[in-house]
Amino acid sequence: MKTNQVIECEFCKIIRGEAPAEILYKDQHVIAILDIKPIHYGHILVIPRTHSATFLEVPEDQLANIIKVTKIVSEALVDALKPPGFNIFSNNGKAAGQSVFHFHFHITPRYSDDNIRFVLKLKKYQNDAMALYANRIRQCINSHHMLEVH
Ligand SMILES: [Zn+2]
Repeated sequence: MKTNQVIECEFCKIIRGEAPAEILYKDQHVIAILDIKPIHYGHILVIPRTHSATFLEVPEDQLANIIKVTKIVSEALVDALKPPGFNIFSNNGKAAGQSVFHFHFHITPRYSDDNIRFVLKLKKYQNDAMALYANRIRQCINSHHMLEVH
């Protein structure tokens, strides 16, 4: 983590109280705010106080805190706005649509005919390609975490 990144980070500024935000929740580890450019009104961002650029850099001991707050504010969102559905997602990397490089979860209400979707052209695995992809990923899981996958 470079200090400049933290000084200039939009979310770190909000966390330090140097930039305005509609704060919904805060505790020792996590804050939740309204997204200023919502997909739907009530779109929430859950942001750990520790600056990490993407999900991969989030310290493991923060994960449970982030998920707990994500659940608390999701429940409140559903209680308050009664949307028929909601999405929880995270963009990691510019190619994935990440615009603020301080990890965060999005929670947005969803409505039946809101026409928001990934434009998907779903692929099919050919021949043994699925097993090859699975093996490549499993090998990395095993080498990083020494887990046994059955
Ligand atoms: Zn930050």
